Amino acid sequence: MTASREKRASRNSLLGTFTLVVFLLLLARFALLQCRARQAKPPLTPAELPRTDAPAPPAQTGSASAVLRGSEASISGSVHVPLGAPRDADPSDEYFIDERAFVLSYSPEKRVPNWVAWRLDRQQLGHVRRKDDFRADLSLPARFYRVKESDYLHSGYDRGHMCPSADRQASAEDNSQTFLFTNIEPQLHELNAGPWEQLESYARLRAQDGALLYIVAGGVFSAPFPTIGNGVAVPAANFKLIVILDPGQGPSDVNEHTEVLAVLMPNQRGVGDHEWTEYMTTVDAIEQASGYDFLNAVPERIQGVIEARTSRAPERRAGRHAGAPTR
Ligand code: MN
Ligand code: MN
Repeated sequence: MTASREKRASRNSLLGTFTLVVFLLLLARFALLQCRARQAKPPLTPAELPRTDAPAPPAQTGSASAVLRGSEASISGSVHVPLGAPRDADPSDEYFIDERAFVLSYSPEKRVPNWVAWRLDRQQLGHVRRKDDFRADLSLPARFYRVKESDYLHSGYDRGHMCPSADRQASAEDNSQTFLFTNIEPQLHELNAGPWEQLESYARLRAQDGALLYIVAGGVFSAPFPTIGNGVAVPAANFKLIVILDPGQGPSDVNEHTEVLAVLMPNQRGVGDHEWTEYMTTVDAIEQASGYDFLNAVPERIQGVIEARTSRAPERRAGRHAGAPTR
């Protein structure tokens, strides 16, 4: 063996060792990811859903003249959240948008809304045709990924509206806003077309009867959360809470007897076999599962009562509904 040949041989064996090490590292990384993916698999019961017990931060005092785009102050005066915009311990990972037809908190990390809030009354129930113009939300800053059609394609999940199209039928513009992907979460079809849709219809029935409704809907996510498309988080469950005020009442009339519906529906196989009323729970339970404080503009004493009360199933017949739940 010549010296140069020896040198080449040792270089080759060094290269071989290096390649092997890189391969082993990649294998380990893959195994870890597989392991994590498996851990994320089992369906969560509401009790197992992630919880945050951190106290809510104090109210922000943003002057109207210095409202930062995306900040909480940019939605705080909205007609959709007079009962208080949902608030968690860390608003720094939320981007707030006033879409006019509704307001929302977007998660740049999950690429879905944390929550969407809207006011519903009879005036919103017009006859505008469903626009179906699903599209990226260009009001998001360019530094955020903007979810689009292809992220849901062949994913096995529906494009599930938080604020439903049918809740915004008074104008074509309002209806179109509901098709922004910032109002959409991946939902199993059996959830979207099952109990989730049933409750949407029930809310519209109440609005038709003259009630004023304040609705918040969003997702509850496991950690780590599964994704579809380009990193779009799939919620483990979807929550919705609805404050129902009698005809003629306004947001300041919320009291201990005000009717509140709260549901937590698993985004899991089998959910379509159930009625929406089977998923009724308390606002407290949704606060625990989501980490958000809801209805935080309502006096503490009243929050304490209406958030702890389990929703009562409405009477079956449309037209005559259960009054204020007593208990
Ligand atoms: Mn839907
Ligand atoms: Mn609360």
